[in-house]
Amino acid sequence: MLRQKAFMKKTKSGKVLKVVKEHYLRDDIWCSVETCKVCEHTEPVLSAVPSINKAFRLPHYIIPDTNIFINQIDVMEHPLITNVIVLQTVLEEVKHLSLPIYQRVRDMIANKEKRFYVFSNEHHRGTFIEKLKDESPNDRNDRAIRVATKWYANHIKDLNPRVSVVMMTDDAGNRDKATADGLQAISVKWYIEALDNTEILDMMSSAKDLDDGQKTIYDEHLSSAHISNGIKSGKYLQGKLGISSHNYLEGSIYTKINGEEGTILIVGRSNLNRAVDGDIIAVELLPKSEWRTTPTGVVVDEEEEQAEEESLKAEQEAAAATAAKEDTIMAEPEAEKATAAVEAHKLDTPQPCGKVVGIIRRNWRQYCGFIDRKSVHTPAGSSAPVNVLFYAMESKIPKIKIRTRQAHSLLGKRIIVAIDSWPRTSRYPIGHFIRALGEAGDKSTETEVLLLEHDVPFHEFSKQVLSFLPVEGENWVVQPEHFAGREDFRSLNVCSIDPPGCTDIDDALHVVPLANGNYQVGVHIADVTHFVKPGNVMDQEAASRGTTVYLVDKRIDMLPSLLGTNLCSLRSNVERLAFSCIWELNKDAEIVNVRFTKSVIASKASLTYEEAQNRIDDASMQDDVTSGIRILNMLAKKLKQRRLDMGALTLASPEVRFSLERDTQDPVDVEMKELKETNALVEEFMLLANISVARKIYEKFPDSAMLRCHPQPPSANFEKLEKAVARFGIEIDHSTSKTLSDSLDSAVLPEEPYFNKLLRIMTTRCMMQALYFCSGAQIEQEFRHYGLATDIYTHFTSPIRRYSDVMVHRQLHAAIDSSLSYGDELTDKEKMNDLCGNLNHRNRMAQQAARSSVELFTHLFFKNKTEEEEGYVIRILKNAFIVLVPKYGIEGIVYASAKVSKADSGESATAQPQPILVYNPETDCLQSTETLAEGETPKTQVQLFQKVMVQISIDDDLKGGGEGGMRQKLKMELLKPWIEGISVHGIANKDDPEAHAVTSTKKRDEAPVPAQDKKRAGKRTKA
Ligand SMILES: [Zn+2]
Repeated sequence: MLRQKAFMKKTKSGKVLKVVKEHYLRDDIWCSVETCKVCEHTEPVLSAVPSINKAFRLPHYIIPDTNIFINQIDVMEHPLITNVIVLQTVLEEVKHLSLPIYQRVRDMIANKEKRFYVFSNEHHRGTFIEKLKDESPNDRNDRAIRVATKWYANHIKDLNPRVSVVMMTDDAGNRDKATADGLQAISVKWYIEALDNTEILDMMSSAKDLDDGQKTIYDEHLSSAHISNGIKSGKYLQGKLGISSHNYLEGSIYTKINGEEGTILIVGRSNLNRAVDGDIIAVELLPKSEWRTTPTGVVVDEEEEQAEEESLKAEQEAAAATAAKEDTIMAEPEAEKATAAVEAHKLDTPQPCGKVVGIIRRNWRQYCGFIDRKSVHTPAGSSAPVNVLFYAMESKIPKIKIRTRQAHSLLGKRIIVAIDSWPRTSRYPIGHFIRALGEAGDKSTETEVLLLEHDVPFHEFSKQVLSFLPVEGENWVVQPEHFAGREDFRSLNVCSIDPPGCTDIDDALHVVPLANGNYQVGVHIADVTHFVKPGNVMDQEAASRGTTVYLVDKRIDMLPSLLGTNLCSLRSNVERLAFSCIWELNKDAEIVNVRFTKSVIASKASLTYEEAQNRIDDASMQDDVTSGIRILNMLAKKLKQRRLDMGALTLASPEVRFSLERDTQDPVDVEMKELKETNALVEEFMLLANISVARKIYEKFPDSAMLRCHPQPPSANFEKLEKAVARFGIEIDHSTSKTLSDSLDSAVLPEEPYFNKLLRIMTTRCMMQALYFCSGAQIEQEFRHYGLATDIYTHFTSPIRRYSDVMVHRQLHAAIDSSLSYGDELTDKEKMNDLCGNLNHRNRMAQQAARSSVELFTHLFFKNKTEEEEGYVIRILKNAFIVLVPKYGIEGIVYASAKVSKADSGESATAQPQPILVYNPETDCLQSTETLAEGETPKTQVQLFQKVMVQISIDDDLKGGGEGGMRQKLKMELLKPWIEGISVHGIANKDDPEAHAVTSTKKRDEAPVPAQDKKRAGKRTKA
């Protein structure tokens, strides 16, 4: 049957068109219930006997309305919710309202165990309804849901009279209408409570329950119409809120103020007015009299916080009225906040300050964290629902109030929580529990936390993604037809040089001396784009992942391992497809010419850096591969020298590698990474290839080439460093990378051999991030790569583990083969820009995740250990300083205030830590507080580059309540120099054999096993 709906529509040009929408009603839409004999479905989704619960003791299917999915998606995802009929009406509304939630509903529908069935009620003859006159679209849809529910109820009545359908809606009016129609209807709360499962109860979005609505704390947010008018008129400014990592009550936006770019500070709870880090907000400037010269540091409104905790406690005590004895844990003031390290700023002119008047777009996500033990006051074992406070691992996020029945069993665990709302009457945002990840401090739990917190997609590749792999699987081999359009390089002496244990080999090299005295040098890169075709699901997944992520003990791949570690990996003695860059270089390693070609290679050797180095050094080895490596090494040295002459920087990072115990993967040793000459050999040719390719693709795609730049750092970044080295008589000239490089080379202190490396580490931190960009989006002067001192650069050499390289391969292929057809993915500036944005984000997150992983293993390594080590002051904060311990590559904060122990401060526990050293912005030093005469130096001071002795241990307070809460922290305490009130007496060197037993980590009986190599993390990625 065909129904027609005609209406008139006016076009932009004023023409009136008659639009006819056709709507087919069908008879072949089935109920999908297993036992149904009337319908002709072949793979029924709904089980014959669905689940029951206390409210409905008979088996039933659930038909939720749209708002159930929108508001309670976490509940719907719980494994207890199965056999759900998703009406087409509902699915379309969900799609319209929220794409992310729509995607989650689609995922549930795809999950066979959930038994979610989509019923096309809008096309079913028995359930389609027309909108009535005067009926709103909402009312029409509610009615459509009731009609479909009624149809199902009648349809299945004959199958098994015991099985029924239940409509689920939180709209009381709709429920009443349903009941009047003789249907069963229920609210989500009623239904979930009848399931008797504490976990799913906690997952209910409970904003209404938790908003006690007593006292208004915050100003109202303006309406969106009000905001957009205000922004147009210039009354309000908009920007993305960034919260300080040292103080969650201090944030800023970067925006245009009177036509000039600048920062607006937003300080304090009421000015922040419920905005959360990452939200897009509308801000009103405060009058100049309220501007501040420096960020305040810590804003303490402890009294209010304590009041909040007291009220939580009172609530909980009431909730646990059945308890025999009341728990007497007192709410403690937040030691953490009182001692929060504040970065020392010196700003002479008052900074514009503002106040949040409205939220343009929320950036709420799911947060990993833990329940604040101090907020739980019910007796152990109590499962009464209580309101507790949740701390996100991300310190920029405010505490979140959640309601839970599992408070005690969740203590000490990492959990995930979502924010539901932040009403004006609630000090904290209100959220709900989603799931528990596991015990805090546990390696696998903490690894999952760091992946989630850094937005690293780590799910297994879906069947759909895997379906785009070659059907031959591991048996895939190069076939005669693959030679079409490729050069046959199988006879060349190609070899690869990588870290030990490397399984994803994406580059290999060869060299051939030419008759004219020059050399033919080839860099061969895995031909990933032969296997990954633009736009298919595997390509989309790789584009979204952006990069492979290297953690200490595992790798999260960008591409399925069949490609990454097998078919694309350029292993020795197998034929592989490659994309080759072939140069003719003269004896001085200058490029005579360059060309690019797809090829087939057969590598003769996969070497480690060490093996390659040994071959170079062993004069008795004269085979072709070894001779080739020697020539490459000679050329690489010349390339490197020329780069350095041009001003390329040699920077440093305090990178370490862990030796892991084979079975448990626990760290047993840690050492600084050591670089061999052969590391540099490979790196030089990769840089050369990347530069050559960059020129080629920019020539072909001037508006849309994917390139990589490294902006020059602003002078301000070097201010403190310059001041600090001046006292050693050293000058840093950073006007160009060449002058900077020369300054670094000459900055040597004979009495302190580590000084130069330390300076390079600190210089690295003055640098900007290198970024991918689309050539059409920047002017040519901005293409420059400052660190590498080249005018153009891209990433071509690692397509297995970087998506940028995949795009560059496609662009290069199009550049060398004019007959190749390609889509707008290579030419569309907008699309390329968006992709660069995602890749830059993923890249940054991958680096941070790798760093967090090192941090986690450092914590595991120092567990139950206390070590004394030499360190250097690398940063001065307002009330603390940061020490780098080169041996372990770790950094820790040493506070410049006296510790107030509980015993000293007595019951009140409100004493503030007393500053022992204060910050002097003139000298960027922390100094003792005595009054100084003109020209006198303070008795004690702490300054950059100062060598200190520290004691390292782990603040192992995983149960919460201590300074770090459950954010496990490395504890660094000052041993030398001795500063009364700050320094501690070391315990490691006491004459206690047991103390020695736990500290002697390096003299174990068992030899350390080889480190799991964090392949190339940081090796070439820095380029
Ligand atoms: Zn049926």
